[in-house]
Amino acid sequence: MWSAVLDLLLPSVCPGCHLAAGPDLCPACFASLPAIISPCAWCGAPRKDPEADCSACAGRGFTHIAAIAVTWHYAGTVKRLVGDAKAGARPAAARVLAGLLPGLAAFYQDDEPPNLVVPIPPAPGRRPGPHLATGLARRLARRHRLPCRPGLLVATRFPAEQHALSATDRERNVADLFRCRESLTGTVVLVDDLVTSGATASAAAKALRAAGALQVLLCCLARTPRRGELALIGGAKPTAAIDAADDDSESEPTGPSFF
Ligand SMILES: [Zn+2]
Ligand SMILES: [Zn+2]
Repeated sequence: MWSAVLDLLLPSVCPGCHLAAGPDLCPACFASLPAIISPCAWCGAPRKDPEADCSACAGRGFTHIAAIAVTWHYAGTVKRLVGDAKAGARPAAARVLAGLLPGLAAFYQDDEPPNLVVPIPPAPGRRPGPHLATGLARRLARRHRLPCRPGLLVATRFPAEQHALSATDRERNVADLFRCRESLTGTVVLVDDLVTSGATASAAAKALRAAGALQVLLCCLARTPRRGELALIGGAKPTAAIDAADDDSESEPTGPSFF
């Protein structure tokens, strides 16, 4: 809380290192962003050879999800920014992360565009305040001029913490966790800040499909790297992270609401 107030009062600094001048990422922090090399279109894993089958999912991807766009490893500068944004400590971190969310251009070169953006909802009973996935979804929807429906998916219970569980237990932990409050049609873009096993996103996509969505695309800021994958880090490429449809970067209001 107080650090958020100080953010507004003190001269702005880089949200990545808190040392260089802000309010945007300094060149050193920008260059340190851990880009995923050739991410698999179905699970987001990095690939040494973009022409080869993905060794992480063998092309199977995540259940109920047609495709994924994810740009960054959850490591280094991205991990620090997510930590600051989730702690509610630094509005500037959340603003920078919204600009780093991948755009939707890769999803529909020739197809019909999606008609709705929906974030993974907060856990039930979570204390009020900015929710990173919801803020990211709002920015993505504005960027592509799509409607955003943060209240559409609801979590029906409080699941155990996912990070301590095996992949199988993660699936069990979030099975049938979500309910969609209205019937849907067409393509829905689901937004989350992090993807690890894909279990939470798959459970949310299952609820969207059950409500009538023809397909669900997952747009995610970062992916938790598996063992050995951090060797596959590319340099930050601004044009890869923010596609041509992002024309609102200068006009977004910033402040206590984060987005
Ligand atoms: Zn910096
Ligand atoms: Zn894959």
